[in-house]
Amino acid sequence: MPAKEYSLKKDGNTYLSKNFQVKEFRCRDGNDKILIDDALVQKLQAMRDCFGVPVNINSAYRTAAYNKKVGGASNSRHLCGTAADIAVKGVNPLTICRFSQGRFNGIGLYDTFSHVDARPDKSYWKQNKETGQKQVSVSGFGDFKPSAPGKPIVPAEPSPEFARKLLRIAAKLDDPGILTPEETEFFGIKDGAEITADMARDVLRKTAGLSN
Ligand SMILES: [Zn+2]
Repeated sequence: MPAKEYSLKKDGNTYLSKNFQVKEFRCRDGNDKILIDDALVQKLQAMRDCFGVPVNINSAYRTAAYNKKVGGASNSRHLCGTAADIAVKGVNPLTICRFSQGRFNGIGLYDTFSHVDARPDKSYWKQNKETGQKQVSVSGFGDFKPSAPGKPIVPAEPSPEFARKLLRIAAKLDDPGILTPEETEFFGIKDGAEITADMARDVLRKTAGLSN
């Protein structure tokens, strides 16, 4: 099915699914016309339901002019409204790519975001951090390991943001105290447990690979 056409002005606040509004898919140059593929929306909603936190769309539909400006491929799926560059708070891009396998056919791994699209044939790639070059024909990103029901998804390789959060918690624990429910979730320890800074750093080393 081809993507449907929307108007940012008229339809911007319209919900396409439980959590996604038309305006989130807009071209960042302010263009009024927006193309959105419904299959893309439904797949993103399924992802949102799984992670239980907002899936932020950095870039979805792009006009040809804007796509050229941001250095997108000339045949980019963003042009036809079937692609989205996304980031999920507290979940690193690799985990997003792992989750997306078998759900999206087009998946790209980047440093700070993941590209997903609803193309008909499978294509996985990642961007080489050093050279900026795309490494195409990636066979897969490894297994997605969902956490137990009701437990937060703790990334195996945390994003910088997630690592910072852990560090903030560790700093707080220099003055040992009782953790908030949210913090205990991150540490995976018993609700209301009293923990020391040393214990916090131990968790940090294990989960974030940090040395202090
Ligand atoms: Zn993209």
